[in-house]
Order: sequence, then structure tokens, then C-alpha cells
Amino acid sequence: MALTNGNHQSKEAWNSHNQMMQEPLSTNDAEVYEIIKKEKKRQTFGLELIASENFASRAVLEALGSCLNNKYSEGYPGQRYYGGTEYVDELERLCQKRALEAFGLEPQKWGVNVQPYSGCPANFAAYTAVVDVHGRIMGLDLPDGGHLSHGFMTDKKKISATSLFFESMPYKVNPDTGYIDYDRLEENARLFHPKMIIAGTSCYSRAIDYGRMRKIADQNGAYLLADIAHISGLVAAGVIPSPFEHTDIVTTTTHKTLRGCRAGLIFYRKGVRSVDPKTGKETLYNLEGPINQAVFPGLQGGPHNHAIAGVAVALKQAQTPEFKAYQVQVLANCQTLAAALMEKGYKVVTGGSDTHLILVDLRPKGSDGGRVEKVLEACAIACNKNTCPGDKSALRPSGIRLGTPALTSRGLLEDDFRKVAEFIHRGVELTVEIQSNMNPKATLKEFKETLAQDEKYQMKIKEIQAEVEAFSGKFPMPGLPEL
Ligand SMILES: *Cc1c(COP(=O)(O)O)cnc(C)c1O
Repeated sequence: MALTNGNHQSKEAWNSHNQMMQEPLSTNDAEVYEIIKKEKKRQTFGLELIASENFASRAVLEALGSCLNNKYSEGYPGQRYYGGTEYVDELERLCQKRALEAFGLEPQKWGVNVQPYSGCPANFAAYTAVVDVHGRIMGLDLPDGGHLSHGFMTDKKKISATSLFFESMPYKVNPDTGYIDYDRLEENARLFHPKMIIAGTSCYSRAIDYGRMRKIADQNGAYLLADIAHISGLVAAGVIPSPFEHTDIVTTTTHKTLRGCRAGLIFYRKGVRSVDPKTGKETLYNLEGPINQAVFPGLQGGPHNHAIAGVAVALKQAQTPEFKAYQVQVLANCQTLAAALMEKGYKVVTGGSDTHLILVDLRPKGSDGGRVEKVLEACAIACNKNTCPGDKSALRPSGIRLGTPALTSRGLLEDDFRKVAEFIHRGVELTVEIQSNMNPKATLKEFKETLAQDEKYQMKIKEIQAEVEAFSGKFPMPGLPEL
């Protein structure tokens, strides 16, 4: 059917267009709808232990799915390049206010940019604001629990753009203890003279000594940036130490423990940076202008107003007693999971956790992260392989990272996590059994093939999977009722 009749739309075709715009997803696009349904089922009937994931609340997802998606508003509240921004101005200011409140910050001392699209863009914007091109940064190395966006590169290749555009010298954990080696960081910083030191982690189970890092930054006249992407919910609830009193800049994602939609935030200091002890002369911070300009127009275009709305909702929730109770439970569950696994003979890196995650070293079990991750995945248990301190090669990570935020959002308590530890243990035992029947030199690919083809193993997996699904399915699923 031709849609147009000369220059005129046929009435029929136009009606059909208008109808299409009102159709629900289920009938308008059954293909995408079915994929989402399958994913919802996977989330509902699986055990989600990926430490960076969480389940956003219904209210957050409603804001995210709203008409705010439609609005362009390049610029900042009161200074936009578009019309019709009255309400998105109100929204962005509300989000800023709540962001400061959620972390107990005074508006005279701290400001916040709520426009970053996610954690990596927030970090890149913060660096470009205060570090010149090819200026020096120091972050925790990726294999040691740092994040890609903290300047990651290998001996052979600069992987992250943060190592291409800035000169990066990573610091490490002590391979024996698993704790950050602050002494080495101090020594190396004295030689390297970084412009910025980054305190933040993606796979580290211990509290960071921000006070110590402040001292090291001060010795070198460097900025201290805390990237609290993983732990921001715990910080907002006050259940782990806050970096704010020690740092100049704080970045975070909003979708991990903070439990909002996917986005990023940059907090920056205002007012006096330092006072000359001799002359009493004050040096002021100059972060607000450069950071705002780095986000827009430096790196981004129009803000994602629907995401800003979702973040605002999450930040309101983050100030409630319910949220505090949730974060207390996240920690209690993590302690329980660590203890239950250690009772079964597992080696937990650093011997426990102060946070929402643990790193389990599988070398003493004779296995590794890649193989265990695959078997657990087949059993409907989601986690991820991770390098452990002392790993010779990043290609064969020895551990798995396990986090409690997502399942705690579904209401699991300590006893439930003892059950979760049991399921993980059965998965690891099966992995070890499969490995013991294979050539010790067999590759991960060969392991996966054996796992997929051997009926005896498939039966055992099906058995664990059925139990895992029955167990997970009992817990309520936050979010939109249908999708
Ligand atoms: C997850 C994470 C990020 C990146 O967040 P994205 O939203 O995935 O870009 C940055 N820093 C740390 C420490 C993280 O854990």
C-alpha cells in the first residue's frame, strides 16, 4: 500500500501511522517484547551475584520510561540552548539538591553535575577538567581491582582512552595480603608527580584509606578523586566510610549500590582549596566551571532528562530508613556469604569483606574463574571471573567476584545467603570434577565443549539449575510489573 498519494497522505495510511504510535510494545514489536520477557525471566529465576548489578525500583523505571526522554536541553538550568525547558530545569535542580542531601553535603562547599551519561563518561569529564592532555594520573591497576577508566593499559597496548590521552602509572595491591599497597603508591607518586590520584575500585572488598591517600596527594600537589561507583549506596547510607571529607572530586555511577537507573554524577569542591601557612593567603578551588564545561559542551550533548529523573527518584529513596536498612543487610549478607564459603574451605581474598563484595581465589581448589563462571552460569548463577592478587596472567583469572546488592534488593537474608553459598559450592565441585576428567592443559574452549556435550555433566547441571530456579523464583522482583 502506498503511504502517499501525490503530495498528500492518504487518510487511511495516516490513521494507521497515528495508531502505530499508540500501540503497546507487545503488539507493536513482538520480537523486542519477547526478548525483554525472556530477560525478565532470566533475572527472576536466576541468582544475580554480579557485584555491579542491582534491580531498580518500579518508581525509578517509571521515571526512566517517561516523556522526559523526548526533551532536548543542552546547557544547564537557567542557561539552555533550547526552549521549553521550564520543567527539565526544575527537575535538574531537584536532582542536584537531592544528590547533595543524599551524601550530607553543604551547597556552599560542594556542587554536583548530574548530566554524565554513565560512570566512564563522568570520569573522563572529571579528568579533562583538571588534567591537561598527557598530564599524569595514578589509579589502581585493573588486574588489582581498579577500573578500566582509571588509566588502564597493558605492557603492549593502551586500552582505555584514559591511558591514551593521559599518562597513567597504576598502583597495585600487595600480592600477599590483597590490600592496597599505600607505601608503594607513596614512593611511586613521589617519582611520577601525578596531577591526579584516583581512589576507587571495582573489585576490592576493603575500605579505602582516603586519609592516607589525601596525604599522598598533598605531598605532590595532586587532586584526589574518589570514584565510588560501586559503593555509593553504602556511602549514602553511612554504613562505610565516606570519602568526601578527604577528596576534591567524587564521581559515581548511579545504578550499582545506589540502585537508580544507569547514569553518572560528578561532585566537586567549592571555596577554599588551601591556605598558605606563611602569608595566610587563600587559594580557591576552580572546579565548578571546568567540570561543567568538560561535561557540556566538552564531551556530551543534550542531557538524558529521563535518566536524570530516574536518578532523582533513586536519590530520594537513598535518604529513607528503608534504604539504610537495605544497605545494612547488603553488608550482613556479604559477611554471611564470605563466612559460609570460608567454612567450606574457600580462600576469600583479604580473608573477608568490609563491603558488598568478595573475591574468591579458586587456585587452592585447583580451578579458576573462567571455568567456574561458565558452570555457574549454566546453573543460573550469575557472577564474573576476576584476577586475584598474584595472578601471573590476566588471560586466566583465578577468582570469581561475588556481590550481594542485587539479591538483597529481592529480599534475601542471611539464611538465604547460606543457601546461595551451598549452590555455589555445588557448582565449583562440579567444575573440579569435570577438570579432573580432562587433560590439565585443556583450554577453556575445550572445557566449555565438554561441559556442553557430556550428558552426565548436563544432567548434574540441570539438577542444580532446577533447584536454583525454584529457590530464586520465590523472591519478589522489583521493577515494572510486566517488563
Ligand atoms: C562501573 C564502574 C565505572 C563505569 O561505569 P559505567 O557506567 O559502566 O561506565 C567506573 N568506575 C568504577 C570504579 C566502576 O566500578
